Amino acid sequence: MFDLSPRPANSAPAAPDFPWPGGKKCALFPAFDVDAESVWLGADPQNARRLITRSYGGYEARVGIPKILETLRRHEVKATFFVTGWSIDAHPATCEAILADGHEIAHHGYLHLRPDTADEATLVDEMDRAIEAMKRVLGIVPAGYRAPWGETCPEQMELLKSRGIRYSSSFRDDIRPYRHVLPSGPGPIEIPVNYSFDDWSYGLTHRTSPRAMFGREEVLSIWRDEFDQTREWGGVTTMVMHPQVTGRPMRIRILDQFLEHVRQYDDVWIARGVDVADHYEASEAAQGKA
Ligand SMILES: [Zn+2]
Repeated sequence: MFDLSPRPANSAPAAPDFPWPGGKKCALFPAFDVDAESVWLGADPQNARRLITRSYGGYEARVGIPKILETLRRHEVKATFFVTGWSIDAHPATCEAILADGHEIAHHGYLHLRPDTADEATLVDEMDRAIEAMKRVLGIVPAGYRAPWGETCPEQMELLKSRGIRYSSSFRDDIRPYRHVLPSGPGPIEIPVNYSFDDWSYGLTHRTSPRAMFGREEVLSIWRDEFDQTREWGGVTTMVMHPQVTGRPMRIRILDQFLEHVRQYDDVWIARGVDVADHYEASEAAQGKA
């Protein structure tokens, strides 16, 4: 039933060595996953009547996102918010505020269901319901996608391509963007994730997601070291923050100080996912590969 044949996990060739725009040495892709209550509902429908569990996600629209927007404004940083379709329907004003500040909203499923364990009808429903919500509520068409629960499957990759999604930001196998190669041919661009920037691992604990909490100095030291070395290698540092984590009071200080650290360099291109995808496509076209 499962194909265990010996072959690389990814058939895409090595990431091309395109220069970053404006002579920059590296890129920072600040990104947030707006799961809100849907991450808890998608994990277990019985959470619908667990008001305190749902309130973890409810924090995002009430406090987390406004505080994050304020912080990004102060640092003059534009980011991408991967928002579930459920969150767009439940929190339209919050999503409008994200767009009004010049940030990008991209696809993150509808109810934050795991693609790898979903049947085909559910995969299609998760994909299309979210696209429909983005269009109906916000008047936008998503350019990018991040897999809920950090997992995906071959059928989902083909689905992204068929729906015109230009980039994915889910894989953990590179430090530079590359283009997927699917059984049907070229797939979306990948802006690979650095999982050390997933704040959930350091700052959220719940009885069904129990984790040790990490303080500012521990997280900052990991983030600074990962970023500094990625900068030397000329890669992209892709972040995976959640407003129900990074929007908490002491955790927003970590983001604040990390952005301060990054902004001391003038050779970092801070870009939204769609900007990275635009640049990648332009570089491909310049090399006659488009
Ligand atoms: Zn998520």
